[in-house]
Amino acid sequence: MKYLVFSDIPKVLHSSKTKKPFDKCVMCEKELLSENSYYFIEKAFNQNIQNGTKDVLFEYAICMDCHEKIAKDLSKESLERIKMYFDLYVDFDERDTILFNKRERIDFADWVSECVISKKNVAQLKEYQIAAMCYEDKVMYGSLPMAIGFEAADELQQLLSKETKDTIDRFQNYIFPPKVWDEIPSKRLIFI
Ligand SMILES: [Zn+2]
Repeated sequence: MKYLVFSDIPKVLHSSKTKKPFDKCVMCEKELLSENSYYFIEKAFNQNIQNGTKDVLFEYAICMDCHEKIAKDLSKESLERIKMYFDLYVDFDERDTILFNKRERIDFADWVSECVISKKNVAQLKEYQIAAMCYEDKVMYGSLPMAIGFEAADELQQLLSKETKDTIDRFQNYIFPPKVWDEIPSKRLIFI
């Protein structure tokens, strides 16, 4: 992971409720735009492929401390399987080289234009999600940002152990409003 390049946080990563950058951790409510704050944003979209309109299926921002606490509860076995899965499909060094050299000024859209696993253009996907690492009011570029289509997200879920699924379920119940629990067809957080 390099994460040496930064850009402003694009609108697509803003909170759909406030239309502004996320400013609080979903778990501990810590200020995210403050000095020396590292955090992770994930957003999932449900898209009308015909006309390109999309709804936010879920979204959250979580500070690194809370992220680490949850990650600690994920089983070693699951993390190894997730790593193997990504290793199988993604050469992150090659991806970095291509994306960093694509244009003079970094463009967030380049990094989330296709599913990192299937390489399908997200414009062709009914559901997909994006994840990014942020520092204060900037996005950091390295292995993230990335987009993942629903098929790959489902495959990832199948690699998780029962205890890891339970941990993620607990977190998921916390971030999703109850009204969407039935609308999300399967568990699909990137969260790694
Ligand atoms: Zn937190």
